[in-house]
Amino acid sequence: MNDIKRNLEKILSEIPEGVELVAAAKSRTAEEVLQAIAAGIRIVGENYVQESLKIIEKVGPKARWHFIGHLQTNKVKYVVPVYDLIETVDSIKLAKEIDKHAKKYNKIMSILIEINSGREPQKFGIMPEDTEKLIKEISTLSNLKIMGLMTMGPFTGDSELARPYFIETKKIFNRIATAKIPNVEMKYLSMGMSNSYKIAIEEGANMVRIGTKIFGERKY
Ligand SMILES: *Cc1c(COP(=O)(O)O)cnc(C)c1O
Repeated sequence: MNDIKRNLEKILSEIPEGVELVAAAKSRTAEEVLQAIAAGIRIVGENYVQESLKIIEKVGPKARWHFIGHLQTNKVKYVVPVYDLIETVDSIKLAKEIDKHAKKYNKIMSILIEINSGREPQKFGIMPEDTEKLIKEISTLSNLKIMGLMTMGPFTGDSELARPYFIETKKIFNRIATAKIPNVEMKYLSMGMSNSYKIAIEEGANMVRIGTKIFGERKY
């Protein structure tokens, strides 16, 4: 059995039913991604547009594709036709650009709103207190469908320190769900990575993005 298969068997046995596992595949080859799919991965997350287009071309519809990196508006045109979910929408400008290209492809593009739960100035994501306003604005765009929230949380060695940020994001998730905004479904809460997914699941994540623990240490 190869390492990817062994790693995935362990992770899949630990993740409760109803939690979706996204294999975070930045820097991995198409061969590695195919090994992960053979071992049970159904969703692959990619961060870099150019790199991912080559992988998607080789792997194709054997997986669903989630964009999990920072998306620049000039790259939106490449992402919309091939991805199933964009997890990192954090501005009305980006949302409008996605909506424009989705129209061209006659597609309703599913998106998550990325929350900067650590309120870190240098990080992407909308500030927690501005989330509801942004969601209301985006919800009026006809070729987008908001499906939930995503957060990274501040990077720390100690995963327990991530817990308050997951709790805060879950609170926002619940509040938006209760607000019943038309065209907005709070279905997915994407949070937790290799070192923090167990805590994220305890705090309500139903989508986790795991790279290193599946594929091993990466080069970049
Ligand atoms: C790389 C990455 C992950 C996975 O990180 P690991 O620590 O390797 O599990 C999750 N989410 C995003 C947005 C990433 O860029």
